[in-house]
Amino acid sequence: AHSTLFTPLKLGSLEIPNRVIMAPLTRARMPDRIPGDMHATYYGQRAGAGLIICEATNVSPTAVGYVYTPGIWNDEQEAGWKHVVEAVHARGGRIAMQLWHVGRVSNERVQPNGQKPVAPSAIRGEGAQCFVEFEDGTAGRDDAATPRALETEEIPELVESYRQAALRSKRAGFDMVEVHAANAYLLQQFMATGSNQRTDRYGGSLENRARVVLEIVDAVASVYGYDRVGIRMSPFIEIFGLKDDESEAMMYYMAEQLNVRGLAYLHINEPDWAGDDIHLTDDFRRAVRARFRSGALLFCGHYTPEREEDLIERGIGDAAVFGRPFIANPDLPERFRIGAALNEPDPDTFYGGGAEGYIDYPFL
Ligand code: NAD
Repeated sequence: AHSTLFTPLKLGSLEIPNRVIMAPLTRARMPDRIPGDMHATYYGQRAGAGLIICEATNVSPTAVGYVYTPGIWNDEQEAGWKHVVEAVHARGGRIAMQLWHVGRVSNERVQPNGQKPVAPSAIRGEGAQCFVEFEDGTAGRDDAATPRALETEEIPELVESYRQAALRSKRAGFDMVEVHAANAYLLQQFMATGSNQRTDRYGGSLENRARVVLEIVDAVASVYGYDRVGIRMSPFIEIFGLKDDESEAMMYYMAEQLNVRGLAYLHINEPDWAGDDIHLTDDFRRAVRARFRSGALLFCGHYTPEREEDLIERGIGDAAVFGRPFIANPDLPERFRIGAALNEPDPDTFYGGGAEGYIDYPFL
């Protein structure tokens, strides 16, 4: 069944054997922000995916907005990730690093030295919440702060933090890198009109709002090559108080720019999955496809094997990316291949905690 899902696909210079791709999934299980044996087990169990995109990983100590999420800015983290990559490779899999900066979805409690989070402009994300440790040692949701606007002179340092993170990812053995430019975090805050009111060359026009994202793509590609770099975007989403009057135009502009560079893939997270009651149309998906021909076009949302096959057969996209089904089914591709029933994911164990709900979902 679902034969098109089990035909190989080229993501730039990396060929993957099937089109059941694992989405980046925050699991918040690293109190020290360092992957260990349990995390290597979790990813190793899922090595049957065409590609694993690892959970969002903070590029620097100030890129954080949640406790217990991993980083890739020091030697211990690099070594921990190397262990994870080895576990995936040993089982015949492939894994991409996802590089993440939360921007304004953060506050003084989770930032180093109690400092303010940084963002394009000093505008708070209305309703945005981060996840912090309180003075009494408990952890919980907390309102995001009004951020500090990055100085123009600080932008090269920001770009460099992504290049350094890419260097560490390469040393850890990751097959590819995905730039997280989705879900109302820093890079989407730069692209969106509501969160970017800068008057320097990083704000104002559409080209200016996209500039830092492309500088980061270029910096990461200086390490990996464009044929090993992907990007994740989420046009039209409105989570965390994000507002954007030009989301569609930005998506088309970015698709053209990424196409010129020959990026390995463009990965679109659909807004209905991000909790918004907004649905992408096939006309929109086709308009992106028409502009981005250089690499693979991936969609993540409420996909099933049937919907993915339909997408591929109609030439709209190259593969679907699966999140929650991969949490509960380490052998998801095999289940799709033989049409087996799926385990149901337990939302109570999505974030935080330990092995339960993480490495104990049954295989067939
Ligand atoms: P949520 O609102 O329930 O939780 C938000 C965040 O709080 C989680 O990502 C996690 O970091 C943190 N958190 C929650 N409970 C925690 C716990 N017990 N211990 C430690 N940290 C904890 O998230 P949701 O409703 O599942 O997701 C909301 C939307 O955000 C979804 O659309 C999802 O796809 C998206 N999302 C994006 C990212 C990302 O881009 N990095 C991460 C998570 C969720």
